[in-house]
Amino acid sequence: MSTTRPVSPVTLVTGGSRGIGAATCVRLAGAGHDVALSYVRDAEAAERTAEAVRAAGARCVTVRADTAEEADVDRLFDVAAERLGPVTGLVNNAGVSGPLGRLADADTDVLRRVLDVNVLGALLCCRRAAQVMTPRGTGAIVNVSSAAATLGSPGDYVHYAASKAALDALTVGLAKELGPDGIRVNAVAPGITDTDMHAAMGAPDRAAQAAPGIPLRRPGAPDEIAAAIAWLLSPDASYTTGTVLRVAGGR
Ligand code: NAP
Repeated sequence: MSTTRPVSPVTLVTGGSRGIGAATCVRLAGAGHDVALSYVRDAEAAERTAEAVRAAGARCVTVRADTAEEADVDRLFDVAAERLGPVTGLVNNAGVSGPLGRLADADTDVLRRVLDVNVLGALLCCRRAAQVMTPRGTGAIVNVSSAAATLGSPGDYVHYAASKAALDALTVGLAKELGPDGIRVNAVAPGITDTDMHAAMGAPDRAAQAAPGIPLRRPGAPDEIAAAIAWLLSPDASYTTGTVLRVAGGR
């Protein structure tokens, strides 16, 4: 009887240290993926998530890598491949919004950073994923969009909503471009989800306060978003590509 370890999918999750990204890493580990996760500031959170992934029986590598920086993205993919093997999946989860407010009051630096991380970062990661997956004729990408892309988020962050609408367009176009190469590209559009992101916007209670306006009357939990991401990466979604799966409690 062979004792060779079965080959696991290797999935790279950007912004995997906290929130939806961390829940995704742990769920993917439970589904048999080895995981490379990136983060920017919080190395301790990254290591905590890595420990949870390893406790679920998967291999995990953490890489400090800003998705808005081309050299960081290249290093992230290189380290993942060296430590875990060829990358078979990508979750473009890293995202920022800046403070809540009207566009008229937004700083140019905030607008630039939101577009750099949410759009350029996703493009850089998708480009590298396309380069490594195409020769293998297989792979799956999930972009983490937002319900904001269609709601528009007036008064909160129309710039963020616009960046997520760009991700939806990227998803549809890249799915058509890479379908013939055997690569699936989808997006998950979460509604308000209970993570630290709202504190970073200056409104730590925002998720709970939004509950009355959500048909299911509560914010989402990170693992409920992770479930959709994991499904889109799984063989069960083998005929699903170019779709934006809304996970927003009915909003
Ligand atoms: P979060 O709790 O703020 O976590 C963000 C994660 O991304 C952290 O791991 C952070 O790492 C990392 N990160 C931030 N900028 C990065 C960059 N430039 N490069 C690499 N990693 C970076 O956010 P979340 O709520 O889980 O959101 C995850 C995704 O879901 C985002 O794309 C967000 O737009 C989307 N989303 C969230 C909600 C919601 O209500 N929470 C709703 C819809 C969509 P460090 O801590 O090290 O910086």
